[in-house]
Amino acid sequence: MSPKATTERSQKLLRELPSVDRLLKLPVVIELVAEYGRTLTVEALRHTLETNRAAILNGASYVPMNAMLAEATREWLATLLSPTLHPVINATGVIIHTNLGRAPLSDAARKAVEAVGGSYSTLEYDLSQGERGSRSLHAEALLTRLTGAEAALVVNNNAAAVLLLLTALCQDKEVIISRGQLVEIGGGFRIPDVLAQSGARLVEVGTTNRTHLYDYEQAITENTAAIMVAHYSNYKVIGFTSEPSLAELSHLAHQHHLPLFYDQGSGALLDVTPYGLTPEPTVLDGLAAGCDLVAFSGDKLLGGPQAGIICGRGDLVTQLKRHPLARAVRADKLCLAGLAATLTHYLTNTATTAVPVWRMIARPAADIRSEADTWAARLQEQGIQAQVSDGRSTVGGGSLPGTSLPTWLVAIDHQSVSALAEQLRLHEPAIVARVQDNRLLIDPRTVLVHQAEPLLQAVIRAAAQQLAVG
Ligand SMILES: *Cc1c(COP(=O)(O)O)cnc(C)c1O
Repeated sequence: MSPKATTERSQKLLRELPSVDRLLKLPVVIELVAEYGRTLTVEALRHTLETNRAAILNGASYVPMNAMLAEATREWLATLLSPTLHPVINATGVIIHTNLGRAPLSDAARKAVEAVGGSYSTLEYDLSQGERGSRSLHAEALLTRLTGAEAALVVNNNAAAVLLLLTALCQDKEVIISRGQLVEIGGGFRIPDVLAQSGARLVEVGTTNRTHLYDYEQAITENTAAIMVAHYSNYKVIGFTSEPSLAELSHLAHQHHLPLFYDQGSGALLDVTPYGLTPEPTVLDGLAAGCDLVAFSGDKLLGGPQAGIICGRGDLVTQLKRHPLARAVRADKLCLAGLAATLTHYLTNTATTAVPVWRMIARPAADIRSEADTWAARLQEQGIQAQVSDGRSTVGGGSLPGTSLPTWLVAIDHQSVSALAEQLRLHEPAIVARVQDNRLLIDPRTVLVHQAEPLLQAVIRAAAQQLAVG
């Protein structure tokens, strides 16, 4: 056809495209309006018509039927409104997986969040007096009971906790910290940057691998506001290293009438050594060593919702609570509900069975082996090449660097492992597994009980589909 004829044909097709108003009268589109509202539906219809107009100008030779235009509109709306934040089955064996939302909540914590979220609550209301109450009541009494600290404060996350304590207690003064602890934790939390942001002046002492007590002592001046210790969190210095203990530092700090602040990070309230992990100081160890304030996360080894917790001396916590920044970083009701429920597990000595991250850490390898055997057998029945092999799970989340737990993996051989892994990621619910040496590795340790069946079915379906494609 000549260019002119083409243009004429396109013009004719363009005129055949229905108007938005006409499409709005179709029963299927009336349904869309009921489901998505008129404004979004009209936007979606315009989008569909615009796409088809462009296709015609590019040479498309027909106008789709109205039913097809409505279907394209429905798909656009569904994609627009599908959540981007949704549950994932974590088959990686990384227990506190930062990218996958760190700690899953216990059943009790989940229920507490749901109950408080779907209703009014006693967030700042005293039922017995019928008047205003305190938001700081809910988790803080549990925290002081658990840790023995005089006082506690819950804020939005641990980065905020550290920022608040440095701002409220060290602004325009000096904070002494070892060079070995000027670390960056995942997500761009850099100790030196937080110090700078707080208005405190950083005084670095020692070297990357060795810092001595006298390094700290020599750095103390009349401008010193505090000594600070930050947990390494996500890396490990090995070899020729040394650092004074928390107890030595607290002794030194108190001799000079200075407070010692400890950014403990992980929020471990229990000892990890019974499970074969390298010892690391718990929150209680920090307080027992004489730290004046200990700051930690709620959603790492504590196993609760995202939160930052500060425990320690009553007079210092009171100063923190009075600072304007405390209002800006305060914890919300969902966090407080979930945190209080999580802390209750520790008080009743049920953390290693009720708190998912501790249940995963404490899970015996034999138990994981028997689950891996069951899963591998199920997959083999479906003609999938699945073997059980030994491997390691890690704690993750910047906790306990360099140590891992023995585990048993289901290893799947497949002609296209990366395609299989992708299909599992795009499955609903999404599944994230490890790919290593051209095999897909599934670690039962981090798969929650109710997720086992959906996981197996998804693998069976994905493997079958991959075979069909290949
Ligand atoms: C994780 C961590 C932080 C940051 O805590 P968030 O709760 O993620 O804000 C700060 N310091 C240390 C030592 C940590 O391990």
